[in-house]
Amino acid sequence: MKDALIIGAGPAGLMAAEVLAAAGMTVTIVDAMPSVGRKFLMAGKSGLNLTKNEDPDSFLAAFGDISGAMRDAVTAFGPVEIMAWADGLGQPLFTGSTGRVFPKSMKASPLLRAWMARLTDLGVTLQTRWRWTGWEDGQAVFDTPSGRTTLNPSRTILALGGASWSRLGSNGEWAKYLTDDVAPFAPANMGFVVDWSTHMAPHFGKPIKSVALYAGDTVSRGEAVISAQGLEGGGIYAISRALREGAALRIDLMPDWPVSKIAAALSRPRGKTSLSNHLRKTLRLDPQRIALLSEFGRPFPDDLAPLIKALPIPHNGPRPIDQAISSAGGVMFSALDGFMLKSHPTVFVAGEMLDWEAPTGGYLISGCLASGRAAALQAIAG
Ligand SMILES: Cc1cc2nc3c(=O)[nH]c(=O)nc-3n(C[C@H](O)[C@H](O)[C@H](O)COP(=O)(O)OP(=O)(O)OC[C@H]3O[C@@H](n4cnc5c(N)ncnc54)[C@H](O)[C@@H]3O)c2cc1C
Repeated sequence: MKDALIIGAGPAGLMAAEVLAAAGMTVTIVDAMPSVGRKFLMAGKSGLNLTKNEDPDSFLAAFGDISGAMRDAVTAFGPVEIMAWADGLGQPLFTGSTGRVFPKSMKASPLLRAWMARLTDLGVTLQTRWRWTGWEDGQAVFDTPSGRTTLNPSRTILALGGASWSRLGSNGEWAKYLTDDVAPFAPANMGFVVDWSTHMAPHFGKPIKSVALYAGDTVSRGEAVISAQGLEGGGIYAISRALREGAALRIDLMPDWPVSKIAAALSRPRGKTSLSNHLRKTLRLDPQRIALLSEFGRPFPDDLAPLIKALPIPHNGPRPIDQAISSAGGVMFSALDGFMLKSHPTVFVAGEMLDWEAPTGGYLISGCLASGRAAALQAIAG
């Protein structure tokens, strides 16, 4: 019986372990951290968005321009399969109004517990506090609590994660142990730095609702949050890739009103009312949207309506990568044959450490599960 080593116990590594063990391989998982799935558990803190329940074409489109292997993996293990898998672990799910799929408990911990129990039943063994530090004479080398150890399994799956939230284990240091092509890491699904004036301080922590956020032609109708550092939240994450790639940020403060309707409302006699009150009364703009208009719209033009439809927001680029939900960059698909490292034909790579990115909405965990499964299937076949 072949033995397999999984390095990295996040969703990608655990899925690979499940597939390999179910195929009869002797499987060991090692992880540098004292416990498994720390980022997965963190993802569950704000509601574990496991996948997106939508048609296959829309689902695939969210991954952008991905390699054939990744495309096949995501197609073979998409939302339907992921929901069935979670159900099989005894985790009831629900689909929200936008198609996002969550466990009914919202948390990741019950699912992770059930998953680890399944892996134990399949005979998978786990070593924590084992840090992979590269290869020596073809053997995988680890720093462990009892010193330096080497392993020489017949198959290895690297599932070491990306380069954000390093305190949860995924610090991207693995890149220095690979001689293969690794695209530089960049933040993905992140906030942006905005140098607010002091007038904005009362709005820190408040949401910007009912707006459309634009990065060039890319639009998001999600909510953003004003923070002391800038703008964050799902609405901004959704357009963060386009912003990172240089598109300008602008906000339509009234996306459901055409410019003519706004202009007509604003032309009503104002009397002695302040402009803020006039905006509030005629357009029903809330304090956050009025504050943004004051912050970046001054000096006000005579015709405010076009500005309300396209308010430019100057920003100073992404927040640091360690604070990003995920990272772009990683092992390039050109270094791989499917999911196998061309330089190490018994080593396969899965999860966020691969050079693909996707928006939030369940696509990240879905891509990790799908690539973990596909890497394992290739390891079994090879
Ligand atoms: C706050 C937050 C919320 C999120 N919410 C969602 C969500 O709702 N839905 C969604 O789809 N995605 C979400 N994500 C993203 C998702 O959690 C990640 O994309 C996913 O966990 C990546 O899985 P992975 O298995 O590739 O890597 P990881 O989960 O990062 O696991 C990698 C593992 O490798 C280990 N490791 C690293 N280096 C070494 C080494 N040298 N030796 C040994 N072990 C090592 C790490 O300790 C870690 O356990 C969220 C992320 C964050 C930060």
